[in-house]
Amino acid sequence: VLCVSQDFDFFYFVQQWPGSYCDTKHSCCYPKTGKPASDFGIHGLWPNYKNGRYPQNCNPDSELDESQISELTSTLQKDWPSLSCPSSNGYRFWSHEWEKHGTCAESELGQRDYFEAALKLKQKANLLQALKNAGIKPDDEFYDLDSIEEAIKGAVGFAPGLECNVDQSKNAQLFQVYLCVDTSGSDFIECPILPRGRCQSRVQFPKF
Ligand code: 5GP
Ligand code: 5GP
Ligand code: 5GP
Repeated sequence: VLCVSQDFDFFYFVQQWPGSYCDTKHSCCYPKTGKPASDFGIHGLWPNYKNGRYPQNCNPDSELDESQISELTSTLQKDWPSLSCPSSNGYRFWSHEWEKHGTCAESELGQRDYFEAALKLKQKANLLQALKNAGIKPDDEFYDLDSIEEAIKGAVGFAPGLECNVDQSKNAQLFQVYLCVDTSGSDFIECPILPRGRCQSRVQFPKF
């Protein structure tokens, strides 16, 4: 018998800044429902090991069942929009995230609970508000990476992992924010290991 439930140590809850996703050579496509709000969007909730490794695609037999998340669809479209091309209604992105990452937490969270957990975590960590309170706004200006980290740590209680990407002029810009979450998917915890983020000491926070 194949054992599909796999252990993991914690989750990374990853949010992306749409302005940075779109402002690269790949560009982006707005969802069919229109341009998302100027806010962080969910990328995923990723099971991880303390040593930095991670399981993936844990159950090839588990496809995302649209009916399981039908009550969450409008909130997912708002808080977990897909910006890849061609433009979509989000379902392709959510399915990918479920199959690659969600299936590795299936022993803890079923499909509905998995997506609901991510949506609740986004509410708990209002990143844009935390940054605005510290005077850090998506205005194309450059900010100290340390001040971004401090603002998020002050609001969430734990230091985030920050990941940058580069725009066409090679400017480093704030792309993704990683927060660590316990295996039940409900509470933020101190990160056992932070992802290496490829940020410079000053990074741009692009408009969106
Ligand atoms: P990238 O190579 O763009 O950093 O990551 C590509 C994909 O690999 C991500 O979208 C994610 O699915 C997966 N990935 C990258 N880093 C991590 C990690 O630290 N933990 C987990 N669980 N997945 C990761
Ligand atoms: P990962 O494998 O890194 O967890 O997820 C990235 C995959 O989801 C890629 O195949 C990417 O094309 C797709 N995807 C769809 N929409 C988005 C989006 O808005 N952001 C990111 N980072 N990936 C997206
Ligand atoms: P994936 O495997 O996630 O489709 O894509 C691999 C890499 O290309 C990821 O680092 C992802 O962020 C990037 N990527 C894929 N599609 C798009 C897109 O439409 N726009 C942007 N900006 N990046 C993309």
